[in-house]
Amino acid sequence: MLKAIPAGAGVLGEQLQVAVEELAAWMREYGDVAPHPSQDVDLGALEAATADLRSRLRDNYPFHHPRYAGQMLKPPHPAAIIGYVTAMLVNPNNHALDGGPATAAMEKEVVAQLAAMFGFPPAPGHLGHLTSSGTIANLEALFVARETHPGKAIAHSADAHYTHARMAHVLGIEAVAVPTGPDGSMSLEALADLLASGRVGTVVATTGTTGLGAVDPVHEIVPLARENGVRVHVDAAYGGFFRLIADDTPDGVAAAPFAAIADADSVVIDPHKHGLQPYGCGAVLFRDPGVAAHYLHDSPYTYFTSDDLHLGEISLECSRAGAAAAALWLTTRLLPLTSDGLGEVLRPGRRAALAWAGLIEDSGELALYQPPALDIVTYLPARARLSEVDAVSAAVLAQGMALPLDESLHLATYTVGGASLAARGHRVEADVDAGRILRSVLMKPEHEAAVPDLHAAVLALLREV
Ligand SMILES: *Cc1c(COP(=O)(O)O)cnc(C)c1O
Repeated sequence: MLKAIPAGAGVLGEQLQVAVEELAAWMREYGDVAPHPSQDVDLGALEAATADLRSRLRDNYPFHHPRYAGQMLKPPHPAAIIGYVTAMLVNPNNHALDGGPATAAMEKEVVAQLAAMFGFPPAPGHLGHLTSSGTIANLEALFVARETHPGKAIAHSADAHYTHARMAHVLGIEAVAVPTGPDGSMSLEALADLLASGRVGTVVATTGTTGLGAVDPVHEIVPLARENGVRVHVDAAYGGFFRLIADDTPDGVAAAPFAAIADADSVVIDPHKHGLQPYGCGAVLFRDPGVAAHYLHDSPYTYFTSDDLHLGEISLECSRAGAAAAALWLTTRLLPLTSDGLGEVLRPGRRAALAWAGLIEDSGELALYQPPALDIVTYLPARARLSEVDAVSAAVLAQGMALPLDESLHLATYTVGGASLAARGHRVEADVDAGRILRSVLMKPEHEAAVPDLHAAVLALLREV
């Protein structure tokens, strides 16, 4: 089985070198073009400027390192880099087939793979495309929701990504936040009451909230929504690829909510989160290909090279990097969207989250905020008052980053209120309205081996502050 290209191996440089040469040869087949002197730059100046660039880039956090256990960030897979840069040498635009037939075809192929992963029927039984982000993908899903359920509100959980309330505002639709239960997922009782009011046209379920990685019960939300004639959109921007390991096994995640995505009306996933892609790669998929009607428009300056469907005819964005499609296409050639393929990249992070959660629970010095549903762990210093929890968490965060580079620890924080702590059984006096706890996204497979170190490093910082 093909696994990751070893990091740091010369493969990346070699493949890019071959790409530059081969594509230049293809370009020359059209006849030589002399570069225009206006674009000439001094070689010495280029070297100096790029050296500056490399040095400026050191002002960053070590997203590649397992001791970076903060936000949902990691460098792309080398295959994604090769795919991206290779296609970028041509620079196709996936807005229309006129802008790049090859990468438009690749986009349709990867979208079909994403649809198959979620259990959507093969084309023409679904419609979908890549987007430049999860935000735009969700905007498109909510736009279609508004068109199919005019005048109705959308309901999302109180812990859903803030983009839903914002995009509802942009679209001029009402957004209602449904309270969450003690595991951070949408309360079904509260949703049932809200749907009974008839106000809501679409429910947004999140499989993997950005803060806690909580998974809304899509399998229970779908039947409830259907009874009420309500549409279901699933925001799987973060958690979508966990579908590959949603098998109820010890190092997998809960099967039912992910299996039920197949019954939703639309779903959003961010390959630039767990799909090993560089930023600029989201996706939206619809179960009903008929929603294309809502996108209908004509353009006097595009869609002329072919009568086939142009991606711009089914998306709100115009120019989009064909390179993003090539990167995802190449990555899935090597790490297919299967349990044995990309699934094997997600399982170690899941195991890391479970292992660290266990260490935290046993420590006495830290408390687990709630059990992780995916690979995001949230925890707090064992302190009596929320103001102390906040101050100590902030100090651990700051002091971890201030350590020498080869010992530095990079965490994130998450703001909670007294009621959320109490709902999870934490006896913390809420002397302030809200306070920060600690949060770690363990999305790199390398996190698994690093768990004992991460835990020891947090405890060491805790003892110092
Ligand atoms: C990241 C995320 C988004 C926003 O996606 P971007 O790609 O950052 O624009 C939306 N919803 C969820 C659940 C996310 O995790």
